[in-house]
Amino acid sequence: MADPVQDDRDALLRQQTTLARFGELALQSDDLDEILTEACRLAGEALGTDLAKVVELQPDGRTLLVRAGVGWKPGVVGIATIQAEEDTSEGYALKTGKPMTSPDIEKETRFRYPPFLIENGAKAVANVIIIGAKDQPPFGILQVDSREPREFTDADTTFLSGYANLIAAAVARLHAVEAVRQEEERLRRVLEAQVVERTAALGRSNAQLDAFAYTISHDLRAPLRAMEGFARILLDDFGTQLGDKGGRYAQRIVTAAERMDRLITDLLAYSRLQRHEVVPRVVDPIRAASRAAKEARAEHGEAVAIDVQGPMPAVIAEPVVLGQVLSNLVANAAKFRREGAQAQVTVRAEPAGERVRIWVEDDGIGIAPEHQGRIFNVFERLHGEETYPGTGIGLAIVAKGVERMGGTCGVESALGHGSRFWIELPAAGDRSVDADEERQA
Ligand code: ADP
Repeated sequence: MADPVQDDRDALLRQQTTLARFGELALQSDDLDEILTEACRLAGEALGTDLAKVVELQPDGRTLLVRAGVGWKPGVVGIATIQAEEDTSEGYALKTGKPMTSPDIEKETRFRYPPFLIENGAKAVANVIIIGAKDQPPFGILQVDSREPREFTDADTTFLSGYANLIAAAVARLHAVEAVRQEEERLRRVLEAQVVERTAALGRSNAQLDAFAYTISHDLRAPLRAMEGFARILLDDFGTQLGDKGGRYAQRIVTAAERMDRLITDLLAYSRLQRHEVVPRVVDPIRAASRAAKEARAEHGEAVAIDVQGPMPAVIAEPVVLGQVLSNLVANAAKFRREGAQAQVTVRAEPAGERVRIWVEDDGIGIAPEHQGRIFNVFERLHGEETYPGTGIGLAIVAKGVERMGGTCGVESALGHGSRFWIELPAAGDRSVDADEERQA
């Protein structure tokens, strides 16, 4: 025997279960179409029908697009539209915000219904509005369609209204998520554009700097050569007339001009290094080390004893840059020697895992720990020009050059106890020394 009270209770339980299940999905899913389709399925199920849809109000404020639905033939979901006019139940529901039901479409006199509804076999309809965010137009309408004429009770429409409010909350949440995503996307684009723009600007200014550096160095060197040359003539040919004092001044001009020349050379080397395209290949460091030793011997003669210990493991490097790096390190090791003592300099290399560490060690004046951090900076010098002439760019070239080759560098030292400079570069392993490099050497 049918028990109407029991039936009502069952229906209520079904509806409440549906609400709970949908609430979970509405909170968790980020896919609006999934949420809306599931809303239709569950709402239909709760009201005992397999036909339901959500129609979304379009920006024109009148057209309703079937955004999602269940039970429809192809050509409805995502395609069919309804005009929200006064004489449609949808228009009425939108305008009043109240649930609107038609228990039997065929007998309906108040509203007209779109053909696709009839074609799909809908005989009765219940509409509830899905509100929009505060001060926003409604999102649309949740419509439950029945294939049989049927009454929708107040309990049904109350259930559907609660349901539609859940959908509205899910829509608002997704809109907020989408707004954040769009903002993130916009910011990302702005940042990317800035990076591209800055990189291009940097490229332009690099090229300008290059041209500038060459022009400046050329323009500076010409008068410099003249100054130095005339000062030397003064010294050589007019020594007696100049007297002691005049001779010292002329000598100072020569020294200053020489220093200026070194400065120009070092600055050019550094600025070139910063922009120079570094294409590393397999290199035997012994060549660069030997060349550096030769240069230092030529400059300091008996004052230095340099021991280049081979063989050395091959490294991945740019030969010209590596040459400059080792040349600067060996030059420093020879230069910063203790007064009156011969400098003992050792250049050696050892494998360090995937890398090779090349050491340039001396027994010179050493560097106090508190100064070791900054000597790799440009223009950083710890001594007066008189004792150890220099430009303060040598180690900056070392640091930049090593960095450009994907390596690292550092120093171990104590004041008065010599210095051990090291650079570390990727090991070439079994790869053989580049033929180009062989030829260059
Ligand atoms: P500089 O032109 O003065 O040699 P660098 O950049 O090559 O400039 O070196 C920076 C400073 O680091 C030097 O002025 C010196 O004080 C210190 N330094 C570099 N190498 C050594 C070394 N082997 N022994 C002691 N001091 C060193």
